[in-house]
Amino acid sequence: MREKGDFQNIKDIRLFLFDMDGTLYLGYDLFGFAKELLQTIKAQGKKYLFMTNNSSKSVSAYVEKLAKLGIKSDENDFITSSQATALYLNNNLPDKKLYVAGTKSFKDELRASGVNVYEDYSDEIEGVVMGFDTELTFKKLDDVSKLLTLKKDIPFIAANPDFVCPTEYGYVPDCGSVCGMIFNATGRKPFYIGKPRPEMPLLAIEKMRKTDPSIDKNTTLVVGDRMYTDIACGINAKTKTMLVLSGETTEEQAYGGEYEMDYIARDAGRILEILKQN
Ligand SMILES: [Mg+2]
Repeated sequence: MREKGDFQNIKDIRLFLFDMDGTLYLGYDLFGFAKELLQTIKAQGKKYLFMTNNSSKSVSAYVEKLAKLGIKSDENDFITSSQATALYLNNNLPDKKLYVAGTKSFKDELRASGVNVYEDYSDEIEGVVMGFDTELTFKKLDDVSKLLTLKKDIPFIAANPDFVCPTEYGYVPDCGSVCGMIFNATGRKPFYIGKPRPEMPLLAIEKMRKTDPSIDKNTTLVVGDRMYTDIACGINAKTKTMLVLSGETTEEQAYGGEYEMDYIARDAGRILEILKQN
């Protein structure tokens, strides 16, 4: 398998931002290198965070999933599209009255960050926010359609553009698919946060720099298996990027020239091999 990049430079990386499915595990199968990779990063005084577009689950659901796979983590080990959405809303629509269609945990997270969350239609509402809503009801679709039809120019924000979310048996419709339904009804398309937008890596760097000032865009590596989300978000945030071929991208697609990543690797176990060299 052909690889790309000067792998020795990985030794200079201070912060690793890992996509999860396809990068550290596949469904419910943890990759053999994953545990030792995370331990080695920590042992060398470097940092890592898990980065996910899923805006339906609270972080605690991921802590549980990783625990089942044998990886110990806590809430501080994650950067999510919910957190990135909260940051975006506070920076760009501060103090606005926002209708939020999402799970209870998504709304709680936005409220905790200071967002003014509404759950019913009101003439006062100044924007609409959608998350990946595993508690979706027709009332929410009705409220959102009504707001976007009657108030044509209000901002429409969605946490993540994914069309589907993997399950144990296949896929379920994700935020991007529900936004497709809304588009069919109203003609409005949302502005999407989450990968490939740069908010998640930027937020991660801002957070981790507080304890390690050597962390910046040049010493941060985004590692993922999808070019149009993981790699694109790293490129947009101007961090270093590594595509791993252990998930959904084929070698042929990787070298198709659509994205210029710094590294193309067989899998994230290559990082471990480099870090263990002395
Ligand atoms: Mg992935």
